[in-house]
Amino acid sequence: MEAHICNASKEPITNNTGSTIFPCPKCGHKFIVRSTHAREIAAAYKCPNCKFVGPN
Ligand SMILES: [Zn+2]
Repeated sequence: MEAHICNASKEPITNNTGSTIFPCPKCGHKFIVRSTHAREIAAAYKCPNCKFVGPN
């Protein structure tokens, strides 16, 4: 199984129940992965495919 890396903190998402994974709202080609930590600090995410940057 492929490990997901948090888009903001670069931490691997494994046993992180608070993490969220969703497809890029713009291009839909890349999955945005946000860890609990990234959500807590409201870190922005950036799509590596289309460079879309979004908040929560
Ligand atoms: Zn995208």
